[in-house]
Amino acid sequence: MGDESEESWICRKLLNLREVAYQFLKIEVKDGRNCHFWFDDWAGQGRLIDTTGAAGTILLGVQRHAKVCDAVTMDGWRIKGQRGRRSHDLYNSIMAIEPPRPEDGSDIILWRHSEDDYKVVFSAKQTWEPIRPRRSKVVWFLQGVPRFSFILWLAINNKLSTGDRMRQWGITQGCELCGERDETRDHLFFTCPYSYTIWERLARRLVGSDINPDWQWTVQQLQRMGGRGVDPCLARLLFQTIVYHIWRERNGRRHQSCRIRSVGLLIKP
Ligand SMILES: [Zn+2]
Repeated sequence: MGDESEESWICRKLLNLREVAYQFLKIEVKDGRNCHFWFDDWAGQGRLIDTTGAAGTILLGVQRHAKVCDAVTMDGWRIKGQRGRRSHDLYNSIMAIEPPRPEDGSDIILWRHSEDDYKVVFSAKQTWEPIRPRRSKVVWFLQGVPRFSFILWLAINNKLSTGDRMRQWGITQGCELCGERDETRDHLFFTCPYSYTIWERLARRLVGSDINPDWQWTVQQLQRMGGRGVDPCLARLLFQTIVYHIWRERNGRRHQSCRIRSVGLLIKP
């Protein structure tokens, strides 16, 4: 209780989410349409923007938000920098890669299972244990994520000890977060105005504008997003992170073991 990790809250974690998740992802380029040239790891050397900085976009003549397919023509790669002192090596390493072709199908997101082993599989229900790198310095992944997926697994199977489960024992328990009389899984995620505010604000960009408070819809939507692109993967990661923290906040209030955190506090950077 009360160690450093317990205090590090959802906000900081979520802001770092994209950065952190990239260490677990790489993309096998097929048509290059789902892969960001500068921000995804597709060339086998991490994110190119981390290597070159913003200057790279000018040296190679590829726009900051270009997809990999934007950097090719019918004749192959369309990049500059062949003679540049700083861009020369990068230029050559990209030219050595087979350019994406529309007929090759969709890019494939690969999740790291161990040091050099990448697989297509990502499931929100699965434990994160197999994909956590054994020697990572990314503390919150090591500590947090297996717990996140466990709580999510309980939630998906409706096995969390919510108020409606205790009613059969004669105990009445409302929602600790908003005061609603019946606490159910579906209320907590995300009919409850407290949780919905958090989910809606953080997930809208990833899940889309038709986001809504219904649990089944949300789970189905996350599944329906498919495995393509980085955003669906991040959306699932965000989902289990939020479910975990809301459940934790609810328990903290119920057992009065922590101070109450407002919505603002939970999502504030
Ligand atoms: Zn509530």
